[in-house]
Parts: sequence; C-alpha cells; structure tokens
Amino acid sequence: MTNKIRTRIAPSPTGFLHLGTARTALYSWAFARHFGGEFVLRIEDTDVARSTQDSVDQILQSMRWLGLDYDEGPIYQMQRLDRYKEVLDLLIAQGKAYYCYSSPEELDAVREAKKARGEKALYDGRWRPAPGKNLPAIPDGVKPVIRFCNPPDGEVTWDDLVKGPITISNREIDDLIIARTDGIPTYNFAVVVDDWDMRISHVFRGDEHINNTPWQINIFNALGAPLPQFGHCPVILGDDGQKLSKRRGAVSVTAYEEGGYLPEAMLNYLARLGWSHGDEELFNREQLVDWFDGTHLNKSPAQWDPVKLLWVNAQYIKQADNMRLAGLVAQQLTKLGIGLESSLVESHLPQVCALFKDRCDTTVALAQWAAKFYGDVSPNATEAAQHLTAEVRPTLALLAGKLTGCDWTRAAIATVIKEVLATTGLKMPQLAMPVRVLVLGTAQTPSLDLVLELCGREKVLARLNSI
Ligand code: GLU
Repeated sequence: MTNKIRTRIAPSPTGFLHLGTARTALYSWAFARHFGGEFVLRIEDTDVARSTQDSVDQILQSMRWLGLDYDEGPIYQMQRLDRYKEVLDLLIAQGKAYYCYSSPEELDAVREAKKARGEKALYDGRWRPAPGKNLPAIPDGVKPVIRFCNPPDGEVTWDDLVKGPITISNREIDDLIIARTDGIPTYNFAVVVDDWDMRISHVFRGDEHINNTPWQINIFNALGAPLPQFGHCPVILGDDGQKLSKRRGAVSVTAYEEGGYLPEAMLNYLARLGWSHGDEELFNREQLVDWFDGTHLNKSPAQWDPVKLLWVNAQYIKQADNMRLAGLVAQQLTKLGIGLESSLVESHLPQVCALFKDRCDTTVALAQWAAKFYGDVSPNATEAAQHLTAEVRPTLALLAGKLTGCDWTRAAIATVIKEVLATTGLKMPQLAMPVRVLVLGTAQTPSLDLVLELCGREKVLARLNSI
C-alpha cells in the first residue's frame, strides 16, 4: 500500500462509549498500528440537542482506559462548521446540491401518496433543479434545507472489507438532506468532508451504516475526493440473540471498568468477538497489533458471552501484578465504604490480592474478599450452623488462647494449629472449617495459617472469641 493508512473512530457524544463502538475503535486502532499508520479520534457532535460534555468525557475516559491512543484529535465537528459551509456552497455552485423549501407536512403527504401507490417513500425531487424545469415559488419565511443531487440511476458498488462486494441501486435512495435549516450538516455529509479532509484510508464501523454508505460514496464522487475502503462490522448480539442493548445488561465500557474488569481483558475479549487469529483466545496488545491486518473479521454477528468475558478476565487477574491489583481493589473497597490508609494499600493489600486472586474473576470479587480483612465479617448462616457446633467451641477457645502468645508468623501459627489438633485429636478440617467461618465468614478460603497471619492477631482473636 503506497498511501499512508489512516483510520478513525467517530463516536457521537450522546451517551457512553458503547461496546460495539469500542470494538470498532479497537479494530481501527489495531489496523493503523499494524501498518504503521495513524488513528484519529473525531467527535461527531452535530446532534446539538443530544450531545453532552459528560458523554465526551466518558468516551475519552473509556478510550484511555482501553489504551486506544490516537495520533490526532479529539476533533469536534461543531468546530468545523465553516469548512462544511464552504463545501456546501461549492456543491450548490456546481449544481450538485440545492435548496429545498418543502415543509414537513408536504413531505409527509408525498410519502403517503407514494406508499399508497406501492412505491418506495422517497423524496420526489420537486426542488431539484434541471434544465428547462420550473421550480416552485420560494415560500415566504421558510428556511430551506440543502439536498444532495443523488445520481438518479446506476448503482453504487464497493468491496466491503468485512462483507465482500455490496451493490445498491441509486433508485433505492433519494436526494438526501445534507444540511438542516439551521445550516448544521447532517451525518452523511459531515462524515464525508471529514474523512476526505482527514485523509482517512479505511473506515471500519457498525453495519447499521451500510445503508448510508452509497450516499457517502456518491458525495465523495461529487467532490472528486478519493474513496476510503469501507468495512462494516456486524452488530453484537446479547445472549438472547437480540441486539445488545441497555435493557439487556451493561453495554458501556465504563460499566465494565467499574465492574472490576481489567482493560487488557476487555481489549482481548472485544477483539476476539468478531475476529480471530487461529485458535488463539488469549493475546496481548502487541500480539493483536501484530496479527490484525483487517482480515478474518466475521461476517455474521457475534454473541456477547458474559461467562467467557469473566473467564478471560480471571486469566488476566491471575497474572496481574499484586501492587496494581491492590490499587484497583482499594478503589472498589471505597465503594463498599472501606477507606484504607495508603500504607495498607501498599504493604498489606497486595498480599491479600496475591492470596485470593486465583479464585476471583473481577476486582469486585477480590474486593469482597479483601473487605473481610478490613471491615466486619458476618459468618455465613448455613456454614455457621454446620461448623460452629457445641463440641468444637472448647477447641476454638483453646486455639484462641494459644494464638494470644505465639509469634505472629505463618510458621508459628501452623505450629499452634498442629498442637491444638494433637491435644484434641481433631482432624484438620474439623478445626479449620469453623475457624474459617468465624474469621472470614466462610468455610472456603485459602490456606488457614496464611489467612490468619494476614488477618492479624487482634482481628483473629476478636472473631474467635465472638461466640
Ligand atoms: N457518529 C457515527 C456513529 O457513532 C459514526 C459512524 C461512522 O463511523 O461513520 O455511529
């Protein structure tokens, strides 16, 4: 390829960064990085009524979190209105666009009439200039929209990077509105001017835009602008087979950040959802960039699988550095109302993370374990009934007594436990289960001596003596 590879992601700031958009961003980013190209972030904020700064902030935060660094941007469309106006004026001067004064009521009537005749409800072209044609009189006080002179005949064809060749007849589409009455351009026009000006070579986006692409190609051609290549990725489906939507669970990147997922797990899972490299399920950012060349993208919709995502996340949590996990778990603990001093976060919490990370699939789950070391513990009722029997209570008292005076090291604690077992003739589980239930609230914990050492003498004694 001779021209520089330049890709972009162009989210509309009318909400958080949707998982589908995040995946397209990821593909665009990886494609640019793979070919040593550039990746641009453009904020499509022309829907003034629905765009918010809060959404922009969330989108930027999600991009940062996923590590999708961009070489240019964020570029805001609302700061480019002069440029759109310049191109609109040019198209009008060249007879490739025109003012349309039809009222919404008039357009509705045209549509209804066409439908009644069994025709497609397209604009009837009444304001489209043509040699020898008399246009209607311009009504007073009506602000016009601008429409694009779409070619009336012929076909638009492109070889989609994901879906293969696609052809749509120009008879299926009409003279699209490219600027509203307030002069603000519509999506299909602004996107073309931007992709042209920003020298975008490859456009990856969701396949809900396939119907827009013929218009965009016609506008590119009218402007004499080079065409990018298009790749339309299929939607992501929920586990019920319906389009993934808010009603069916978390669809924002932010929700997963807050839900205790690691960004590298999310990146891995999102990339794999709709793309593959052999049988590889786990790969890091560098491997993705190495492998992602725009091929092997699935043509059919992918299904969001929360269980698989949890599994992927668990693999990354196992490998994660304990200091890093401690920082993330500390944030989750704050949400549980447990604020830790930084000395604990730096020295103690990493040990808790090391001990429990193998059994956790999110940092939220890890924080729930950690909370038992810093907050209150209430024993699981069923397990308490099963394990905290009258017979074992004297043994628990004996253990508490011996733990009062011993060194507070794993080895010394293990020796005390052995002594108690020897004195009472109990088997390890008969002692370990009730102690775990009392100290951590549940009978399923890692090695008892380690848990007790980490919990600290004061808490262990208080909890053993609480019955
Ligand atoms: N703002 C559009 C969207 O979020 C961008 C589509 C495109 O990439 O062209 O769907």
